[in-house]
Amino acid sequence: MSKNKRKDWDTYFLDIAYMAATRSQCPRRRVGAVLVQGKKLLGSAYNGAPMGVPDCSEAGCMIAEEYELQNVDGKDEMVKKQRCIRTIHAEQNLLLFTDRKDREGSTVYVTDQPCWTCANMLANSGVSEIVYHRPYTKDSDKVINLMEVRGIVFRTLEHYQPPKGVIDEIKE
Ligand SMILES: [Zn+2]
Ligand SMILES: [Zn+2]
Repeated sequence: MSKNKRKDWDTYFLDIAYMAATRSQCPRRRVGAVLVQGKKLLGSAYNGAPMGVPDCSEAGCMIAEEYELQNVDGKDEMVKKQRCIRTIHAEQNLLLFTDRKDREGSTVYVTDQPCWTCANMLANSGVSEIVYHRPYTKDSDKVINLMEVRGIVFRTLEHYQPPKGVIDEIKE
């Protein structure tokens, strides 16, 4: 991007979501999210343990193992996956720290495509648009279908590049 080119609003707010992600202490996945009404920033959040509780950097990740149906070379297979379940997800924290009336008709910018639980909560939160960057394949079809049924705009920014330095800091 040339120096004189002004950032568009999508880039601006997704950049701020990435900045929020740098606060996360989970080394396995660092996610940031912001709430935007019109062009006004109304909240920011990242994934983390509840306040006053040791986080992943202090207590280590809390690993849960589960089997997940995945398409491997055109075949559906059960694949064992590990996830950290210590943290409240960024989207959930965003909902905990914003008001319902602020969320009505608002947009959520989030670094990663929401998981099923977050998508379900966002669908009932009053927001009317979700913009994400990194894909998250688990339950993706279900999430996309949910947003369609609910009439929530669900889109990704394909040509978006996170701020230099930030992505090094939060990469998995
Ligand atoms: Zn963790
Ligand atoms: Zn989630």
